[in-house]
Formats: sequence, C-alpha cells, structure tokens
Amino acid sequence: MEDAFRFADDLGPARVIHVHEPSIGLRGTLVVDNVATGPSIGGLRMAPDVSTEECFRLARAMTLKNAAASLPHGGGKSVLYGDPAMPAERKESLVRAMACALGDCRDYIFGPDMGTDEVCMAWVKEEIGRSVGLPREIGGIPLDEIGATGFGLAHAAEVAVRFCDFELAGARVAVQGFGAVGIHAARFLAEKGAVLVAASDSRGATRNERGLDVEGLIEHKRSGKGVADWAGGEPLERDELIGVDCEIWVPAARPDAIREDNVDRLRAKLVVSGANIPATDAAERTLHERGVLNVPDFIANAGGVICAAVEYHGGGQAQAFETIEEKIRTNTEAVLEQARRRSVLPRRAAVDLAVERVRRAMDYRRWSIF
Ligand code: NAD
Repeated sequence: MEDAFRFADDLGPARVIHVHEPSIGLRGTLVVDNVATGPSIGGLRMAPDVSTEECFRLARAMTLKNAAASLPHGGGKSVLYGDPAMPAERKESLVRAMACALGDCRDYIFGPDMGTDEVCMAWVKEEIGRSVGLPREIGGIPLDEIGATGFGLAHAAEVAVRFCDFELAGARVAVQGFGAVGIHAARFLAEKGAVLVAASDSRGATRNERGLDVEGLIEHKRSGKGVADWAGGEPLERDELIGVDCEIWVPAARPDAIREDNVDRLRAKLVVSGANIPATDAAERTLHERGVLNVPDFIANAGGVICAAVEYHGGGQAQAFETIEEKIRTNTEAVLEQARRRSVLPRRAAVDLAVERVRRAMDYRRWSIF
C-alpha cells in the first residue's frame, strides 16, 4: 500500500494505471495527476528505461504548466517501455495497443513526447478518438514546424527585459541547443531586434560577436551539418557557450545545463528557459543572488502545450499564435511581478501561481483532484 501511494500528496495523482499485454510485449503506465482544471493533456514518452516515478514527476509538471498557462486542462503523462527506434510495425502495434488499453480514461489526452511524434498521435486518434499534436492533414497544428514554443519564448523574453536594465532591440542572445525550440526562439528573437551571437548543438558551438545570420544558420543546420561548421562564425567547444558575452542566454537542449560547477561562467543578465529543468536548484539560487533574472521553464516554454490545447478545441494556427502570445505575456508579467514584490525566486512565484489556480479549481468540485 505504502509503495502504491508513495507519490500521493494533496494535489495528486488521482490515478496511476499500469497496462500490460503479453502477446505483443506491451508495458506502459499512465499517471493522471490532477484534473480539477479539466481533462489532462500530457505527452506519451517512449523509452526503454522509463519508470512510474518519472511518469509521475512529468505528470505533476504538466499539472503546473497547464495551470500556469490557464488552460482548461489538468496534468497527466504516459510512458511506454520500449526502444522508439524499433521496427516501425512493432512500434505501431505497441502505440495502438497502449491507446486501446487506456481508451476508457477519458480524462487523459495523449500528446507527443520523447520517442513519439505526430504519426503516433494519428494512430492514437484513430484508435480512441482523442489525441493532440496530430499531422496537419487530419486537423493538427505542427507545433515544431511552426515554432510554437520558440514563439512563446520570444514573447516571454520581450516581457522579461522590462524587468532588466537593457532593451531587447540590440540585445545579444546565445542559444544552447539549436533544435526545434532553439531555432525558432532565435528566429523570433531576431525578428524583435535581438542579435544572435552564439549557438550550440550536441556537436559544438559557433560565435560571431557582430551577429550570426540566423536564416543562413538555420538552412545550414537543416542540411544536416553542425553549427560549429558554419562559415559565418568562429567555432567553439560545445560547452564554452555558457561563457559567451551576451545579455540573454536561452537553454534549449538538456536538463541541468546550468549547474553549481559552471554557473559562475554565465555572463548573461537574463535566462529564458526553453528546455525543461535547465538549471539545478542551487544554480537557480546562485543566479538569483547575482541578480540574473530567470524566466522559469514551464512559463517560458508553454507555447507547445498551448498550441496543442488550441488544436484540441478545434482552433487553427493563427489562433494558436494569438493564444500563445496572450497567455505567455500575461503569465510572464504576473510571475516576474510577484517575484519582485515578494523578493522570491521566479520559480517560487510561478509554482505558487499555478498551485493557487489548481486549488481554486479544486474548490469547485465535489471531489478535489478528479
Ligand atoms: P530537439 O531535439 O529538436 O533539439 C535539441 C537540440 O539540442 C539539438 O540541436 C541537439 O543537437 C542539441 N543538444 C543536445 N545536447 C546538447 C548539449 N549538451 N549542448 C548543446 N546542444 C545540445 O529538441 P527540442 O524539441 O528543441 O527540445 C529541446 C528542449 O526543450 C527539451 O528539453 C524539451 O523537453 C524542451 N521542450 C520542447 C518543447 C517543444 O515544443 N519541442 C516544448 C517544451 C519544452
């Protein structure tokens, strides 16, 4: 008993369901954390080494992210044990079986996550009629193609600079992780007058103090080459990116990019997080003490889930952009204002804002979390 309820607190999880179908080797877990604000939206992650604990932590993160974005959706997440690079036919049967096994959990809406994509979501939709992040042909808004998360991040940055002592126009930006989020963050920030001075990917980094040609670098990257080979910049070691002179640093790669052992090298005045959990708790505290403003991940990178929610409710691309802009600007402002007024870390202010919204929604319900 103790084991089964080891994650339980007053916010959730409402349900933890393990599914198993030996004939095809299906093993999966769904955690529906809290649905007081509406049916949960969260990704289906496929990896050989997922766990119930990881699933719970991700589901809770979705409860907070969706509430912070004031979406009418709670938090949930599902994990499927297996190598996502397995033969396509086998993957399809596992994903379809996972969807069927959870088809009656109407308070969970499948979305894409690590190891799954829009094609997987199309399979889920056909099986149970419920998923987001679909291909365009069947009503989806391709969020990585349009750059939903990078678009939101650029708006978060624009609001955040009002709390700093520099302007966005002319501000120097470094982007760690020139992938789906990083590329579009750079593009939308450049449209607002910021100057991309450095970028990295898993293979290396590039820098040009006079500014990198963003569109050229994107083309170069899309042709399959690494950013370090870009002729328009000087190559750097991948992890030197943290010490680049700039005003805005955008982590858009892996968790824990900013840690106790490298936080002192960061020169920026503002960090706007594309990646999830890009800094350790201790590093975030150090940044705060040094006066570096940090817009928390689940505030700045909510563009993707906001886009998914718009898609779920039948909206199109234009509405998605409008909703992302409106929600991310409002929430960034509210969080940074609260953090300043209470002299707390922006993450504390963001979690408090999200939890308060969830608790208010819980008060309207006969039960609390489901
Ligand atoms: P992606 O795979 O498209 O891009 C990641 C990029 O990071 C790649 O260019 C990769 O080469 C690079 N990279 C990997 N390790 C690196 C390292 N150590 N140093 C520098 N670069 C490195 O992934 P993505 O969809 O852009 O997601 C990036 C992060 O943002 C992830 O943490 C993800 O969870 C988070 N996120 C993504 C979305 C979304 O809409 N895609 C939404 C919210 C959060």
